[in-house]
Order: sequence, then structure tokens, then C-alpha cells
Amino acid sequence: MDTESYKNGAKRLVSTPQCTTCENYIKGNALHCKCYDSEQKPKYVMFPERECPSYCSHAPMVLDIKNEKESRIYGSLFGFCVGDAMGVPVEFSTREERKRNPVEGMWAYGTHHQPFGTWSDDTSLTLCLIDAINKGYSVNRLAQNFVDFYEKSSFTPWGEIFDIGNATRDALIQMCAGKNPVECGGAEENHNGNGSLMRVLPLAFYAYKLGDDDLIKMVEEVSSLTHRTKRSKLACIFYVQFVIQLLENEKEHALEKTVDFVKKNCRISYADELQYFARILDKQILSLPEEQVKSTGYVVDTLEAAVWTFFHTTGYREAILKAVNLGGDTDTIAAVAGGMAGAYYGFCDIPDNWIQNIVKKEELYWMFQDFGNCCNLVKG
Ligand SMILES: [Mg+2]
Repeated sequence: MDTESYKNGAKRLVSTPQCTTCENYIKGNALHCKCYDSEQKPKYVMFPERECPSYCSHAPMVLDIKNEKESRIYGSLFGFCVGDAMGVPVEFSTREERKRNPVEGMWAYGTHHQPFGTWSDDTSLTLCLIDAINKGYSVNRLAQNFVDFYEKSSFTPWGEIFDIGNATRDALIQMCAGKNPVECGGAEENHNGNGSLMRVLPLAFYAYKLGDDDLIKMVEEVSSLTHRTKRSKLACIFYVQFVIQLLENEKEHALEKTVDFVKKNCRISYADELQYFARILDKQILSLPEEQVKSTGYVVDTLEAAVWTFFHTTGYREAILKAVNLGGDTDTIAAVAGGMAGAYYGFCDIPDNWIQNIVKKEELYWMFQDFGNCCNLVKG
């Protein structure tokens, strides 16, 4: 515990002294930083509440991005992870709280008491899918990764699970007990949380070359491990297709093409579900005022909030801050919006100090590189 800072007036007793990942930090003393030698260190830097304007990573990661396609795939995957990490400290906070005290940079601690750059189950389960694809996708391999996540805390930032949805946990308990993975996900009305939407992003890069039917089948299969409802699956289909379209189209055109895709391919099999997505499919979402956009963990609310955020902002940073400041299920909404925004604006639009603060950033980069090669996407 960082008792030294606490004795010196820090408001919280923290397990990791702030600034240890910063090159200006003086080792062993969380209250001292070379950047603030001649002036007082601002309180919010001492009590990790906000991004430090002087932050400079002592081990900066530089990505070797060769072309537009690489920029978009790394932009989307890191964009997702960074969005998750930005939302973690304020998950479950209300919109009113965020209006009073808006997030304007990267924060630490808060809801789950995690250091800067800590990502949650959204990213962990997305990494499970990436790893399964990297090793040759099969549903059993994906299920085994989920079991390892649940039983051994694999694919986590600090070797522990601090956040997991109820439906996902229930499904993983059954998976650990040996049940057929595709039958583990809940199939009732109350199993329409965003737990599968938050982990299907890689399919936009892996399955985009498949025909429409096979793409849909794969998205449905991946969703069903934790969420078997038609509504959850349709949200995943929409999201994956929208990110695919964002790689090659302007925003509005990408939305139009995605709506056409859903209407063409899901009109019959999802006939009873389309009504729940009406505000997206008829593009009403583009003109909704913020008061009419909910930011809960219900899968339709999360998808709407992410799409709304993406269309009401003009860059990655702005999109993530807007998503987080909606309050509610901030990590998942910012992650889902981050996957879209990163794919559209590219990696370079993500603030560098957000990237440099991400826990295990190198490991993520290595996995993403393998994944890019696997998808045969980053070759030209
Ligand atoms: Mg989470």
C-alpha cells in the first residue's frame, strides 16, 4: 500500500503509488516528480484522479504502422481497450455525477480501485477471442480460453478478475463444469445484457471475408457462449458489420450499408427482434438528444449509446470522453464506441499518453500483430 502518500495527505490508501510508469517519477516517493520540482505537484496528480499533463512513459511503446489498414486494425483494437480503461474508474456513476465532474482525461482508481490504464473483462474476453483465432479458431478453443479466464484469471491486467457480468459468470460456471459451450449462454429475456457485444469486435477483421451467411453464423456462435438470445446476437451482427463498413466508407454511408445488410440478411430470422433496433435501423439515432439515449448494460442501450456517441463526435478522444460522460456502463460503452472510432479515425488519433498508460500494452501489441497476420489484413 502507498502508505507514505497517505500519511502525507492523500485521500485514499492506494495499492500502487501513482506515477510509477512515468519517467519523471522519483522512485520510491509517490509525492515527488521531476516535473514538479520547483512548483507544487497538483493534487489530482497525487491522488490519481486525472491524467497528468506532464506524463511521459519511461518505456514508451512505438508501433510500426506501415499502412492505412494497419492503422485501422490497431486503431480499432487499441481503441477498444483504451475506451474500456477510460470507463473503468467511473463505471456505474450516474450521468448527473458526470455532468458535475466530467472526465476530461485518463483517471485511475474510482469504482474498482484500479491503477491508470487498467482494462476490464470486456478486453479480457476480447483477448480470449483473439488468442483463439491466433491459434486456429474453434469454438472449443474459445471456450477453453474463457474457462482459463474464469478459473486462472488468464488474459487479465493484474492476474485477477475485478469486474464480470452476471450472465457471463453464470455461463462460464456451466462451461467450467463441462457443458457444451454453445449451450452455456442464457436464452431468456433477462439475458439481454451487453456481455457478448463487448467481446465480438475481432470478428470484424477475421470474418469479414466470409460470405454474409457464414459471417452471421460465426458471430452467432461466438455470442452464444455467454448470450444466446436473438437480441444479443443481432446487436453483435450489427456491430461487427458496422466496423467492417467503417474500414472503407464514410460514417453515414457505413451506417446505411450496415442497415441494408441487416435488413437483407436478418429480415426473416430476426423478424421479431428488428423492432428493438428501430432507432438505429431507421437512423433516428442520428438526431436524438442526449436525454433520450440510455447508457445502461442492456444490449440495445449500449449499442445505441455507442453509435450515438460516434456520430455526435469528430475524433477518437472526443468520442471516448462523450461515451464515458454518459455514465452508467461506461467501460463497455466507451469500449464499443472506441472500437468504431479507432477503426474509423485510425491509431494515430488515439492520444499517445492514453496508449502509453495501458497495462500490458506490449503484450497486447504482440497479440494484435499475430492477429493481424492471421487475418491476412495487414499485408498491403
Ligand atoms: Mg467491464
